Amino acid sequence: VLIYLTVLTLISRSSDQSTNQGNDNEVEDKIKIGFSLGTLKEERWIRDRDILMAKVKELGQEIIVQNANNDDQDQLEQVKYLLDQGIDVLVIVPNDLKKAANAVELAKKAGVKVISYDRLVLNSDIDVYLSFNNVKVGELMAEYVLNKIQTGNILIINGAKSDHNTKMIKEGYDKILNPLVKNKRIQIINEEWAPNWMKEYAFKVVDNDLQKGRRIDAIIAGNDGLAEGAIEALSEYRMAGKIIVVGQDADLAASQRIVEGTQYMTVYKPIEKLADIAASLAIKLAKGENLEIEETIFNGKYDVPYYSLEPIAVTKDNIDETIIKDGFHLRNAVYRNL
Ligand code: BGC
Repeated sequence: VLIYLTVLTLISRSSDQSTNQGNDNEVEDKIKIGFSLGTLKEERWIRDRDILMAKVKELGQEIIVQNANNDDQDQLEQVKYLLDQGIDVLVIVPNDLKKAANAVELAKKAGVKVISYDRLVLNSDIDVYLSFNNVKVGELMAEYVLNKIQTGNILIINGAKSDHNTKMIKEGYDKILNPLVKNKRIQIINEEWAPNWMKEYAFKVVDNDLQKGRRIDAIIAGNDGLAEGAIEALSEYRMAGKIIVVGQDADLAASQRIVEGTQYMTVYKPIEKLADIAASLAIKLAKGENLEIEETIFNGKYDVPYYSLEPIAVTKDNIDETIIKDGFHLRNAVYRNL
């Protein structure tokens, strides 16, 4: 009898949690989504935030946004705050791939579903990982470089080690570069990791290498911010535009550099799709619906359902048909001086 009663209490508790805010809020039984961003430093995150907010509101639901400014402890506190606000779903862009598992655990304990947004939270019980195919991002970068140079010296400036995307991107470019590294056609002259994706770090790396007189034929930068730091250093040596530099995100400044010729390529990730899907997945999770996602990714704990979107390589040749056609940036803004 005791067991039977305990089971009944458990069932009624969990259904309390899933029926949203309880009795006081019965009038407005909107689904509440908490969006915890690790950073807003790069231009793309502003877009993620704005589109996700707009989409959730358009669907008649509520969203609260927090930005941790690259601080792990702040992110944890902010998630606690979001849970206190009675969110039904947590959408999290982890600042740290491992530490964010604590925040996920708190959410799960409170019966809140979790979407790992763009970046994967390792060793945690996230309900779904939604991102671009980050391995493909790395492949696209390396494929572009090898199309331009069949032999030579490559410098690699990765993003933060605390970001799982950095690993996925590396997996992608390594796959493409390794055969040529093995047969000595390509040499990786230096490989570094920029803490917090700091562009100043990329500047220093390139500056140091050039000071040492190292010959660089191409630079693979983890994102457009790092590409910017690298190109600023190249400019000081009057080498901007003479060395191939690739990045990702299709930031406005990177798109301008591409048409102006100092950056060769970027990887465009249509953020609107990502944010749109996040909004609908969050609502489905809150309603307890099945997500029906077949692909999975192992996060150190289990095979997480992985919803992945395709990234697109962008150069001077296809910028009009991609970034500009999609309205990601206005043509006038990209071709400002031309
Ligand atoms: C994202 C990139 C972004 C970088 C720095 C990565 O996880 O995928 O788009 O530029 O973080 O914030």
